Amino acid sequence: MLAAVERIHPGSLAALHEDPLTELSCWSDVQILMAPEDGEGRCSVAGSYIDRTDPPTLVVGTSRSYRRRGFTALHELGHHLQQTDPSLGQALFAWQDSEAFEDAACDAFAARVLIPDSEIPANVRLRGPSATDVVEMFHYSQASREACCVRAAEYLASGAVVLLDGDGTAIFSVSRSLIPPARGTDQSGNPLVERALRTGTTAQHDKAYVEYRSGKQSELLYGQAAWCDEEYLVAVFVPDNAPWLRYSVPRPGTGASLYDTPWVCETCGEAFEVSTAPCEQCGVAACPDGHCGCVSARMSKDRVCDRCFLVLAPSRFDGTSGTCRDCA
Ligand SMILES: [Zn+2]
Ligand SMILES: [Zn+2]
Ligand SMILES: [Zn+2]
Ligand SMILES: [Zn+2]
Repeated sequence: MLAAVERIHPGSLAALHEDPLTELSCWSDVQILMAPEDGEGRCSVAGSYIDRTDPPTLVVGTSRSYRRRGFTALHELGHHLQQTDPSLGQALFAWQDSEAFEDAACDAFAARVLIPDSEIPANVRLRGPSATDVVEMFHYSQASREACCVRAAEYLASGAVVLLDGDGTAIFSVSRSLIPPARGTDQSGNPLVERALRTGTTAQHDKAYVEYRSGKQSELLYGQAAWCDEEYLVAVFVPDNAPWLRYSVPRPGTGASLYDTPWVCETCGEAFEVSTAPCEQCGVAACPDGHCGCVSARMSKDRVCDRCFLVLAPSRFDGTSGTCRDCA
């Protein structure tokens, strides 16, 4: 996707990095429309992409911060590139659950433009991010909280980075090999989040967990939560090797059964009754669109190609290469 930007607007990446909204408002191939958030969109951010207008429209929610609008605009630009650049569109077509993949790719693209590799601190690269690292990234960059969460999560071996509002509700999350909490779920009962809310300071907890919409909980996780400012809390959850601890042993999974429960798909947010047998591999029943826990887990294991920014399965890369076979 970075290459696609270079192709249509050579040299514009630096300007997009500095100020995405101002740069995009000069482009003639898209138009930006500011609109109130309705919270209903399919995107992981407060915006949407409309291709039936001429030129196509990047709808950006008039949310609190200017930085967040920049992240949303870049995410929607990502959809525009995916849908107008033939090679990108084709790569996506190969995916069953292409909508979720496209969205994850758009988040990754927006975050890479806002926080290039050179701005990732060495300690985050080495041992993965703590919540205080994410907060620091937010303070020294021009990127939104969401962009910082996406970039930080790329350095997690396993776990989740969750952005919460001042009431402890998850508003954005990114994960690797862990089903992330859905948008809008209340995490304030989680001992880690509860402690951070009560004390108003950075908190740690060795028996934290993620709360799902169904009321079920994840396995026990190591957690750290840090305040971005008075209104937003960033929490990092990991099953082992917590970067903020000297030594943290892996925890055994708790493997709770999901039979006979109302469940909300963590991939598409659809509520459904669990009536069919859960998936044999992950133990999570599939939603009407066919997403089970494997879809979430697969999405989080997949890697972002550093050239096309598509989120691809490990088999699409040679060894530990950061560039997919198609781009290499
Ligand atoms: Zn989207
Ligand atoms: Zn689903
Ligand atoms: Zn499964
Ligand atoms: Zn690629």
